[in-house]
Amino acid sequence: MKHADMIPVREGPVHEGMSAIGAALTGTAAPVSSFLQPDLPGLVLPERTSPLLVPLVDSLSFDELTGLYDRTGLQVALKVLAGDSAAQGAPESGIALVLLDLGRFRTVNDGHGRHTGDRVLQAAALRLKAAFGERRVLARLESDMFGLVFSGVTSDGEAKRLAGEAAALLSDPYDIAGMRFSLQTRAGVVRFPAAAERGAEAIVAAETALARAKQAGPGAIMLFNRQMRERAWANARLEHDLALAMHSGEFFVLYQPRVAAEDFRPTSVEALIRWQHPTRGVVQPTDFIAAAELSGLIRSLGRFVLTRSCRQTVEWRARGIDLTVSINASAVELDDPNYAQMVLSTLERFGLEGAAIEIELTESVLMGSVALRREALQHLRKKGVRILIDDFGTGYSSLAYLHELPVDGIKIDRQFVLRLDEPSGVSVIRAIADLGHSLGLTVTAEGVEQLSQARRLKACGVDELQGYGFAKPLRAVQVEKWVNRRLAAN
Ligand code: C2E
Ligand code: MG
Ligand code: MG
Repeated sequence: MKHADMIPVREGPVHEGMSAIGAALTGTAAPVSSFLQPDLPGLVLPERTSPLLVPLVDSLSFDELTGLYDRTGLQVALKVLAGDSAAQGAPESGIALVLLDLGRFRTVNDGHGRHTGDRVLQAAALRLKAAFGERRVLARLESDMFGLVFSGVTSDGEAKRLAGEAAALLSDPYDIAGMRFSLQTRAGVVRFPAAAERGAEAIVAAETALARAKQAGPGAIMLFNRQMRERAWANARLEHDLALAMHSGEFFVLYQPRVAAEDFRPTSVEALIRWQHPTRGVVQPTDFIAAAELSGLIRSLGRFVLTRSCRQTVEWRARGIDLTVSINASAVELDDPNYAQMVLSTLERFGLEGAAIEIELTESVLMGSVALRREALQHLRKKGVRILIDDFGTGYSSLAYLHELPVDGIKIDRQFVLRLDEPSGVSVIRAIADLGHSLGLTVTAEGVEQLSQARRLKACGVDELQGYGFAKPLRAVQVEKWVNRRLAAN
């Protein structure tokens, strides 16, 4: 088996029909001088990749920051390679395109400034350049996404191995400006022309694989396959259907009650969205929230849930029922600079005070653009809106955000409640409750299904309980009946 190397590796004469650029890419042309970027303090910048190509086509464009190709440059290079391999019909010229993404790079930019972020990107580019040498196709497609092209890759296993090596290279810690950053790099790989026929197609396919790798977690390497494409299409269809559903009013809101651990008195409800699909019946949020986030439709969904909840609060109050409504918000919603203003003006429109609602955020929300989100949350809190951390204990493994962000309460995830039978399960819940209380937070437990769990949670110091054991998510009219029954029982 031919040893895989980066483009260009093929030796030998220029084939008839092979373009000059193709010849350059495959290493059959004479090298020309390289182009150096101006130096930045403390950094030696990489040479522009594949300098051979530079004088040949204007359309091979470069990324200013790193000197690597940009997306367009990579696309042109791939197009040339695809044309050449098709002309020759040489199966051994199998190409693998690897896309790499530096995990949690955003936290560098957000926490330490763009300048530091830029230096990390330059250092990553330098590593690629040093490891894979000159006259290679290396690119930075956007932000923290890098691309590499290997040739002579004849098997899926080999493609994955090469991607793994490149990812490991970029995962090594970066020591920049007296700080150390560990960015677990994910990779998406596509074999070409085996799985994608055209250059642009290969990039999209590798992006699809990279998106799957990001979902799979830190350090994941994913090889593109046809099922992934089908899934990506299904997602695109789902996004389209969601937009239509919004238009035709197919969404509705259920409310799940929360009670005081002390006496099981109803205190609030959590608004949970549902989709009344014309053929599939009621679709659960776990089946569409991720797609709505990807497409940005989550903003409209969030506004819908908020408006519906405010209207419902007013109706309940008119009937003597006073419940705070908890609303789930996604990171995408919080990234909208107008989010806080939108929430406050909606409350005002219904004549409600800030304390009428709470916003539930998952820990992942708290990882991203902390500064921007902190501002939005502080604005809301000043007006009395309480902020809760949802699914506490399942996300980001650092508690640092409890210092950095203004929060009022935590909701302990159901998986901890499920382990209450184990001695360590009780200790963990008690520790979380103590931690929460020492920070002045209210502590709620989710997913309480049994009375025995409710009693143990109360003994651990948990303040509020939510779960099927008390009530499932209910329609507004059922909530009213449920609350009245509960109050009568107390
Ligand atoms: P979440 O915010 O953690 O909501 C609690 C989920 O746990 C709900 O699922 C609820 O029905 C379920 N649950 C409550 N008690 C129990 C129990 O005792 N046992 C079990 N097995 N499950 C219980 P649901 O309604 O399917 O929502 C799932 C997730 O979807 C929510 O998790 C939330 O993250 C998201 N979501 C729901 N509505 C919205 C929304 O309007 N906006 C956003 N951004 N996300 C939403
Ligand atoms: Mg929630
Ligand atoms: Mg939850």
